[in-house]
Amino acid sequence: MTDVNDLALRLVEGDRRALARAITLVESRRADHRVQAAELLDRVGRTGRQALRIGLSGTPGVGKSTFIESFGMMLVGQGLRVAVLAVDPSSARTGGSILGDKTRMERLTRERAAFIRPSPSQTHLGGVARRTREAVALCEAAGFDVVLIETVGVGQSETMVAQMCDLFVLLLAPAGGDELQGVKRGIMEMADLILVNKADGDLKPAAMRTVSDYTGALRLLRRRPQDPADFPKAIPVSALAEEGLARAWDEMRTLADWRRQNGHWAACRADQARHWFEAEVRDGLLARLTEDPGIRAAMRAMGEAVADGRMAPAAAADRMLARLRGLGVAEDAAG
Ligand code: GDP
Repeated sequence: MTDVNDLALRLVEGDRRALARAITLVESRRADHRVQAAELLDRVGRTGRQALRIGLSGTPGVGKSTFIESFGMMLVGQGLRVAVLAVDPSSARTGGSILGDKTRMERLTRERAAFIRPSPSQTHLGGVARRTREAVALCEAAGFDVVLIETVGVGQSETMVAQMCDLFVLLLAPAGGDELQGVKRGIMEMADLILVNKADGDLKPAAMRTVSDYTGALRLLRRRPQDPADFPKAIPVSALAEEGLARAWDEMRTLADWRRQNGHWAACRADQARHWFEAEVRDGLLARLTEDPGIRAAMRAMGEAVADGRMAPAAAADRMLARLRGLGVAEDAAG
């Protein structure tokens, strides 16, 4: 039995073991753990602490872990506390996790001012989203200055991560040809900053070409009235040679400060909080639909009635919704 009070106290003191335990608690799907997790989040949520939340996306092999390691080490060297969370909805399928390999981020792992947490093995995006939102909130309460949320570039998870970040950074590798890499337009539109990694050695000329290709492509996107005119932008970095990292950090801070001053930051956080609340309600309702035996039986029965032509689909849906409406959901679930 977890003592939520004690855990909350140690967490806000910045105890990394308490943070790890707290994240394990929010990852659990056991009903009693969910109750404790909600209590814990409510308690630590009032610290008012805010980290800079940075989403980092890129396909496997572009250098995400190398970048996080060297970028994270730079921030730690500046006296900042850095948390790294991974989002990998596919990890359940492959049985592995993008951060499961302990050799990744070897130096950062040893830093007292750093906290690294691999992706949990959850089967659905909704579960990963909830866990990540809650883990981010816990890292903030524990006093981390920067929370990096790493995601592997596969569509849906990017959108989800962008919804819980202050800044969204896309990491690319130098392109071989002159075509834009198969980066989905939607992902590019989400990016506040594109970092073209591996701008070193033989790859440097290709990296610089890629930077200018993307600079051109970004100009064609709709201008964002809340941001400085030269954002979003593309810049070269080398995670391996540790070059361009200070500039990348400067750009991130410039954008973050700008948005803080013009109110966009607060508005964005308010939107995200609202979105979080709505997603919780939606997920909770869906969970009832799929988990409650009574409701499942009713769904099945009505599904058959619809298939047999005994009921019209819309009428059956109306009846099902009436059954779920208001407190009926709770009564059904309790009974
Ligand atoms: P991830 O899959 O995105 O996490 O990529 P990794 O960080 O594991 O890097 C993939 C490969 O690219 C490794 O062999 C790295 O050594 C290499 N790599 C990463 N960053 C750089 C860089 O800045 N320059 C060069 N030349 N290679 C890099």
